[in-house]
Amino acid sequence: KEPPAKENNVAKIKVVVRKRPLNKKEISRKEDDVVSVHDAANLTVYEPKLKVDLTAYVEKHEFCFDAVLNEHVSNDEVYRVTVEPIIPSIFQQTKATCFAYGQTGSGKTFTMQPLPLRASGDIVRLLHQPYYRNQKFKLWLSYFEIYGGKLFDLLGDRRKLCMREDGRQQVCIVGLQEFEVSDVQVVKDFIEKGNASRSTGSTGANEESSRSHAILQLVIKKHKEVNDPRRRNNSDTVERSKVVGKISFIDLAGSERGADTTDNDRQTRIEGAEINKSLLALKECIRALDNDQIHIPFRGSKLTEVLRDSFVGNSRTVMISCISPNAGSCEHTLNTLRYADRVK
Ligand code: ADP
Ligand code: MG
Repeated sequence: KEPPAKENNVAKIKVVVRKRPLNKKEISRKEDDVVSVHDAANLTVYEPKLKVDLTAYVEKHEFCFDAVLNEHVSNDEVYRVTVEPIIPSIFQQTKATCFAYGQTGSGKTFTMQPLPLRASGDIVRLLHQPYYRNQKFKLWLSYFEIYGGKLFDLLGDRRKLCMREDGRQQVCIVGLQEFEVSDVQVVKDFIEKGNASRSTGSTGANEESSRSHAILQLVIKKHKEVNDPRRRNNSDTVERSKVVGKISFIDLAGSERGADTTDNDRQTRIEGAEINKSLLALKECIRALDNDQIHIPFRGSKLTEVLRDSFVGNSRTVMISCISPNAGSCEHTLNTLRYADRVK
């Protein structure tokens, strides 16, 4: 049997903006919604400003992206627009990456959490089709975070991990736990387990997780039995596996954290500088990818180094930029949209 047709017309890089609704607090404060989504690709931000003589006026900022999702769009629809179209490619030697970018509270985690579930559901369904069943393809999951430039295994007791590159420029995270997953419920359990061990920092506050990048990877591997090289004379076999393709879901640190470089607390400053560096490096890498540059500057940060093999060869990148609609977030919203604009 032939493999299912290859999805050829999917853009290499897709930038999607998602606006969340005003929350209760913003409504009770009577904050204005300053983001207006016109159609599937265009939005306007109405920035409230003051003249020197203190008269108020509004500055209009218009943006255009591959897709713009308004506050009524469901998580299912987000999946259909962002990840679903690239699922076929990860059965065909492609490394795909899906990022959620934006300030803390803009909806990154809300947007990102359901995506690996939906994706693994689709992948598992495809793996049951005769062609892939015969190929002995299996799905593996890992979940780790980058905090202050260091890697921690979210499914392995937050053990600190280190990264190595093999001779073929493949990234290897030494000791990272990987689990075979064969149904969606198992994926859900792993995600919950991983979330529970996400960084809470020294203050124990939940908001500390906004200072880390959480990376969930789904990897499809092809397994085959080979003769055991240590026992040439008998017919013992060992199982070997080869990566067919993978998709990484990355819930990035809050984009405003990159500005924490003048904070009074030294640790916060160091983390802020690291976040700033990684978000800049990420932007440069995606731009280089988009321009088909030979040299991809992934050495710029731990985040981009870890993603190195997703920036070379066959790759697909989806950037979901999450924005808050309230007037008080206007500056952060404009920063997020400008970042997304520069990526393309
Ligand atoms: P972030 O991860 O960017 O800090 P969250 O995903 O935690 O932000 O979202 C902040 C709050 O807003 C959460 O309570 C979340 O449930 C809510 N929220 C975010 N996006 C939406 C949305 N599109 N629709 C409804 N509620 C949302
Ligand atoms: Mg979050």
